Amino acid sequence: MNSNNNNNNDSSSEDDMQVYETLTKLPPANDLLPRKLTIDIDVKSLYPLKALPQFCKNYVSFLEESTHRHCAIQETAAGDENRTLLDYYDENKQNLVYKRFDQLDLGKRTTNDRTYFATLIANFKRAQPKVFFRGEALFDQKLTSCASDQIQFDSNFESGNLFCAFKKSENVYDLIIQNDINTRGNTQWFFFSVTGAKAGQTIQFNLLNHLKSGSLFNEGLQPAVYSLKDNQINGSEWCRDGFNISYFKSPFMKEYPLSLKRKYYQLRFHYTFKHNDDKVYFAHSYPYTYTNLLEFLNTQLDDQERNQHLSRKVLCTTLGGNTCEVLTITSNSLQRRAYRKGVVFLARQHPGEPQGSYVMQGIIDFLTSNTPQAEYLRQNCIFKLFPMMNPDGVVNGNYRCGLEGSDLNRRWKKPNKYLHPSVYYAKKYVKGFSKERQIILVIDLHGHSRKQSSFVYGCAYSSQVKTIERVFALLMAKLNPFMDYPSCTFRIENAKDKTARIQLWRELKINWVYTYECSFYGQQKKHYQIKDYLNCGVSICNALSQIVKDTSKEFTNQANVPDIQQQMLEELGKMPQTDDQDNGSDSSQSEAELSDDELVQLFQPKTYSTKQKNFLKQQEFNKKKPQPVNPKSTINTQKASILQESPSKNSDQKPPMSSQKPKNTLYRIQAPQRLRQVEQTKLPDPPLMVDKSVQTDDWMYRQWLIQMGKMKKQQEFQSFTPTRNIYKSSSQSVTRFIVKNSSTKNDRGRVDSISLVTSGLQNKLISSSQQRQMMRYSGSNFMS
Ligand SMILES: [Zn+2]
Repeated sequence: MNSNNNNNNDSSSEDDMQVYETLTKLPPANDLLPRKLTIDIDVKSLYPLKALPQFCKNYVSFLEESTHRHCAIQETAAGDENRTLLDYYDENKQNLVYKRFDQLDLGKRTTNDRTYFATLIANFKRAQPKVFFRGEALFDQKLTSCASDQIQFDSNFESGNLFCAFKKSENVYDLIIQNDINTRGNTQWFFFSVTGAKAGQTIQFNLLNHLKSGSLFNEGLQPAVYSLKDNQINGSEWCRDGFNISYFKSPFMKEYPLSLKRKYYQLRFHYTFKHNDDKVYFAHSYPYTYTNLLEFLNTQLDDQERNQHLSRKVLCTTLGGNTCEVLTITSNSLQRRAYRKGVVFLARQHPGEPQGSYVMQGIIDFLTSNTPQAEYLRQNCIFKLFPMMNPDGVVNGNYRCGLEGSDLNRRWKKPNKYLHPSVYYAKKYVKGFSKERQIILVIDLHGHSRKQSSFVYGCAYSSQVKTIERVFALLMAKLNPFMDYPSCTFRIENAKDKTARIQLWRELKINWVYTYECSFYGQQKKHYQIKDYLNCGVSICNALSQIVKDTSKEFTNQANVPDIQQQMLEELGKMPQTDDQDNGSDSSQSEAELSDDELVQLFQPKTYSTKQKNFLKQQEFNKKKPQPVNPKSTINTQKASILQESPSKNSDQKPPMSSQKPKNTLYRIQAPQRLRQVEQTKLPDPPLMVDKSVQTDDWMYRQWLIQMGKMKKQQEFQSFTPTRNIYKSSSQSVTRFIVKNSSTKNDRGRVDSISLVTSGLQNKLISSSQQRQMMRYSGSNFMS
């Protein structure tokens, strides 16, 4: 008996070993479902940000436009000056009154932050490679002491992006907007605050470095203004104000590409302060921050009625650590669920276009409401909403790009899982959704800085033939007083081939895929207010409810309603033939974006293997030899250097990144000299052309990304794999292994247990929660 017992123990200890071994190899535990629907406001930015006031408590009490003291003065550039902003900066150092990052305690930040800081204004860096690093020239620049009566600027808050300000003369200030992070420009959006002005004081603001050649500021658009004092006294909220507004060619040249000698554009406006001790915010349009979105979603989900139809899910985490969410809205009754149609809305691919968020908010608010129309839509459709595709850009004050410096709405053809996670996962998600049910409508919400009114870009092979693609646009325009059908265009533009609209249209064969644009201004020279944007969202839903056939009717074969699609097509046929001309394109590919190769360099690890170092030495040596002028060979040299710098599968050995253990985050900005050396090799060609040709042959880039992906995954695994403490306890009939995971934040101290139970006693001995854990494991690798 005794020996028998011992034998049992022996064999069980062998089993134990096996179990232990298997347990240690298990992938990290899945996150449990969230306990509460609302989440803590958790906004991650590259630098510490101050809280913004609670703008917009209600949307109806807007100041009606009263004194429209606008008069556009067309001004031309002052001569043929060849000055850059860097020259300006040097000449006016003594007048510097504000610099964004001087206000922050940067001393505590790790060196890895260079990745972000170093390239905030890449063109500055290009001219003076050392200028931009923390602790170096630009950051060490001492501010002139500000007299207490002088006005003070601030932009260290969410979506803020004033880079620096100079006092030009009494009541005249020159401002420079921060470039989109990791780009050479993309400056159009602005958001900053001013304090310390006296009541009645009029100040002229010159924003020196806008990118676009045209602007609605010359047609009557005024900056969005929010005065804290005015809000306290009169309850006024965001309004349009400012006068003597003009937008014209700046005397300063764009730093990139210098050879083309292109100029920036300058916005000038005057504003008269109404109160003493006031803080006044100025922006391109009414800001809508990531915090605003999270607060709005939380109120929706706190509402017992609304949260019946609404659920939220994490789509992915962005490069900056923010959460990108996908919402589902549909009726929670299971009746005829299979017949419901799919509808997808996207917003804020472009962070500097807050209109998209207001329209999205209007849509969500309407769809979760208890109106009959909303109920009808929920019964007949399943809505998937991506309310903020680019939270990083929004948080950090970008206009077009994410942290990695690329326009997300040009990445839909082949999004990179690690560089463009929100696009990668959204595309995957929508594709999966389309397999599950028919998607009838996709709308990507944007803001337009050069055209008035709201309108859509649609897809069609011919701009002449009135096809089904136009039907929903016409219907929306009929129901929405803010939408202008003649402004809509239906084309497949080569330049926009990689947008969400064209890619989804091509790949999923959905007729109604639109980019919905809302003007920064308004229509017929009247400013849009926030409620107008919200109403645009409501009208989109109204139009949809007109055209979605009641699936219950379809089911019972009683479709006796007039066919709206047919009506619209007939109406389209009667309209005069027009050739869609989109002269005010808002989304041409910007040369301010870094090329893929530059991105590779930017995100490249700093560590090299000995083999690589040797190669680089060789490279240096080769460079000293006279280079043939043949552009092809220059490209080859460049390729070779990138190939070497970017570990690829071909470099037979282990990639250097994995061979050297990472101590810290690896992505570091490359030494700037390097960038310049590569340039020196591409003699007489203008840099832009060489960039382009290399860009098309992106094999190495992809190879490198694959490598980077693998590394990142490994890193992720290391950082996310919790420390597992495995305990064993045994009683007569139960041997229980308890796994305590103790590192990941999302875990909430999760404890898994696996019990090897002799049958029959199971129910008595294990609590229900443990049973659930067992069920959880029953499907996993461990049990099978
Ligand atoms: Zn846009």
